[in-house]
Amino acid sequence: MSGIRHCMSRMFNPSAVLPSGTRQSDIVCKSQRLMLEAGLIRQSSPGTFHLLPLALKSLEKLTHLIDSEMRNLGGQKIAMPTIGTGTLWKKSDRWNSMGAELFKLKDRHGTEICLSPTHEEAVTDILAAEPNLSHKHLPLKFYQITSKFRDEPRPRYGLLRGREFLMKDMYTFDVSSDGARTTYEAICDAYHRVFGQLGLDAIQAAGDSGAIGGDVSHEFILPASIGEDTIHHCPRCGFAANKETTTSDGSPCQQNLSKPSCQMVEKTGIELGHAFLLGQKYSKVFGAKFSDTSGTKRNCEMGCYGLGVSRIMAASIEVLSTEEDVRWPVAIAPYQVCIIPPKEGSKEEVRGLAEDLYDEVCLSLPHLKDDILLDDRKSQTIGRRLKDCRKKGFPFAVIVGKKGEWVL
Ligand SMILES: [Zn+2]
Repeated sequence: MSGIRHCMSRMFNPSAVLPSGTRQSDIVCKSQRLMLEAGLIRQSSPGTFHLLPLALKSLEKLTHLIDSEMRNLGGQKIAMPTIGTGTLWKKSDRWNSMGAELFKLKDRHGTEICLSPTHEEAVTDILAAEPNLSHKHLPLKFYQITSKFRDEPRPRYGLLRGREFLMKDMYTFDVSSDGARTTYEAICDAYHRVFGQLGLDAIQAAGDSGAIGGDVSHEFILPASIGEDTIHHCPRCGFAANKETTTSDGSPCQQNLSKPSCQMVEKTGIELGHAFLLGQKYSKVFGAKFSDTSGTKRNCEMGCYGLGVSRIMAASIEVLSTEEDVRWPVAIAPYQVCIIPPKEGSKEEVRGLAEDLYDEVCLSLPHLKDDILLDDRKSQTIGRRLKDCRKKGFPFAVIVGKKGEWVL
């Protein structure tokens, strides 16, 4: 057996840790309560959270899943600094238009900087500094998965609306608006594949471009009672739009598609992702140009695409869990299997049997190596540990009894 076993007894997993000064009744959202109770997170300050081992393990799985979809699209992963420069943000005018949500600060020289909530300015500036960009290099798709910041007036719902969060943001550069549209469709399809792998029925709704600006946009909304976004959705034809973009008089889908059975339903949900066609809004301002086939310099056609990574994790827990127990999408459960040996001294006990089983599974199924957890807290009854296993939402539990000897 190479390496050490993942053992429950050694895992840092404090349960029911409420931030000091918080009452149970202050926590109105299921995912936040369950994540605290199951020892997944601990609050640091309003809107910021420590991710404890189980939560981070899940988040890393989600990151890999998203990485793989982004790579399949031809995405190139980069990392841009969290510290944004005031000069760039003023050039796009978002230094002012983002208002108080932008975390602004000054360094020791008095230079204005910000904690970036998004990176359109920075990424466009990278391309603008490239003098020999040609149509042959495009489309370019850059993405990163980094912490983002927003000075939320009322942080709440745990990881669903925090001041610091993990986000996947992709920025694309195309030669034409048709090309940008094709890129847009491909990325929206990839988002549906991400949600599909998690078993989440997110609705793609026509959106409001808001502070990002641009022509076409969509939001990916996961229906949930505590959701802060409201959409109009027609289950019959699939039409969906953010409530802010639809008029109150009648159903847009009825007017446009006129299926006889169309009926609009109002739904609240959690925004898991968004897509924006930006046109030349940023490339024009920053001078991100390429040479076309005739050698003429033209502005790039851009798009930007976000997925709230930590929010997706919390939203899955919000919609999949029971009131008592965390339920993960199997693809991102921190451990797939929890092995529970009998209580020490019980008549079912065979010393070392669970450990042998653990090692045997790791040898014969090496891809499961880091997905198996041994609940070696043998002073506790099987029932108590099984309850805890359910609470934490591990998809499979293997209870080792005396007869297990014959199986190995
Ligand atoms: Zn309809």
